[in-house]
Amino acid sequence: RHLEDNPLFNSGKGAVYTAEGRHELDASIMDGRDRSCGAVTGVTTVKNPISLARLVMEQTPHVFLSGAGAEVFADETEVERVSNDYFSTPYRREQWEKSRKSVHGTVGVVALDLEGHLAAGTSTGGTTGKRFGRIGDSPVIGAGTWADDSTCAVSCTGHGEKFIRNTVAREVASLMEHRDLSLEEAASEVIHEELEPGDGGLIAVSRTGEIAMA
Ligand code: ASP
Repeated sequence: RHLEDNPLFNSGKGAVYTAEGRHELDASIMDGRDRSCGAVTGVTTVKNPISLARLVMEQTPHVFLSGAGAEVFADETEVERVSNDYFSTPYRREQWEKSRKSVHGTVGVVALDLEGHLAAGTSTGGTTGKRFGRIGDSPVIGAGTWADDSTCAVSCTGHGEKFIRNTVAREVASLMEHRDLSLEEAASEVIHEELEPGDGGLIAVSRTGEIAMA
């Protein structure tokens, strides 16, 4: 939440603009203890989308809520609400006006606690000028976010479409699981060999505390 509130990042306050000049936010969270997870996409009035994703995980039988349905769910919770222009910042407006593609500034968090449990979360405004309704990888479990205590926790950033096609976050864990690669080797193989230069990157932590920032 602290990072979402910081306008430096493309998530929460400081999120990029959509083609229509609004903000549609995506977030997901996953608990490596039992693969419980929650995600929201296209939310427009929730100050901290990562909190709503967590409530989807903890308080509903579902994993993923979108747009209007996610807002209705938010109405039933205590999450803080804001008007859509709360997310606006001069820097992102200028970027939108120049219509540059943005792939920087998504918030990714991975954690290993003292008991050996892993968790991951990702929160983003998406890509500058994105089409109404477009969903990237950030709220998609297995693409932008993954956590499992038996392998690693992963959070991705970059061109979401490429990360969805390559199910990047889960792929890193799979390479550790099935080919016995280290976290660093797995992350590097996915980012540098399966993806192309400029597609994006990831942060990850393994069950043994190894850290990768490919
Ligand atoms: N991966 C995000 C998306 O495609 C954008 C980003 O990481 O900046 O929505």
